[in-house]
Amino acid sequence: MNFSSKLLEQAVAEFGRLPGVGQKTALRLVLHLLKQPETEVSRFTEALDRLKREIRYCATCHNVSDTAICGICASPKRDGGLICVVEDTRDVMAIENTDQYQGGYHVLGGLISPMDGVGPSDLQIDSLVKRVEAGGIHEVIVALSATMEGDTTIFYLYKKLKDFGVQISTIARGIAFGGELEYVDEVTLGRSIATRVPYERSIA
Ligand code: ZN
Repeated sequence: MNFSSKLLEQAVAEFGRLPGVGQKTALRLVLHLLKQPETEVSRFTEALDRLKREIRYCATCHNVSDTAICGICASPKRDGGLICVVEDTRDVMAIENTDQYQGGYHVLGGLISPMDGVGPSDLQIDSLVKRVEAGGIHEVIVALSATMEGDTTIFYLYKKLKDFGVQISTIARGIAFGGELEYVDEVTLGRSIATRVPYERSIA
């Protein structure tokens, strides 16, 4: 692309770095912003600025939060003995949208992927083991996408947790197969959590 302005070129380059945004889309977004009143654009940049500067991660479940302990972990209405292990915050949102789950979460922050150089120590696995080790947990539901990375991660978690005497379950694999949790519709996702199966049975 030939730009008549260095500033325009720079802004397009930044937007173009976002996932799923090509050069053409980046240019369209930037030109759109350029047409907006200055106050609108300020609100936009300030939201991003504050997001990065002020966002926190729950000390218990590692979900994004505005407070040290997130609203879900702090809620007396939730079953603190039930943990649903997910890849990232999008999965928490997807499961919350089903309105069918009343336990807590544990956000791993990714999946084990030797190909991408992501090992267990890069994820929030030790803190999950500590939560289970501390007691009071009766079931861990592992709700990861049915990809090779998801399967590797579930198997690793199972090995780490199986001796603590907690039930380890997985969500219905056929339903989420090959897909990511956030793309599964709410009814299906809710049902797959309700009809979860003990993990031992799925590897037997
Ligand atoms: Zn939390």
